[in-house]
Amino acid sequence: MAPDRGDATGRIPKEAIVKAVVDRDLCIGCSLCVDTCPEVFAMGDDNLAYTIGESVPPDQYDCVQEAAEICPVEAISSVAE
Ligand code: SF4
Repeated sequence: MAPDRGDATGRIPKEAIVKAVVDRDLCIGCSLCVDTCPEVFAMGDDNLAYTIGESVPPDQYDCVQEAAEICPVEAISSVAE
């Protein structure tokens, strides 16, 4: 089912949608985030991390937090919408 992102009435979705973001200008390609959270992060052909999918599944929130904490250059952030 597609996530409810609100509509023209401005209705706010009941559950926040969390997205993980990798700042690829900061990423040094150490792959620690992929080792920690392989369902959310992957390494690209350019040896920089990227996020898989549009939003983070709820059971991966802790994992994303952990990845953000261990990233040596603090390139990972998460946003709740
Ligand atoms: S942990 Fe940080 S520096 Fe390492 S690959 Fe992931 S985003 Fe890049």
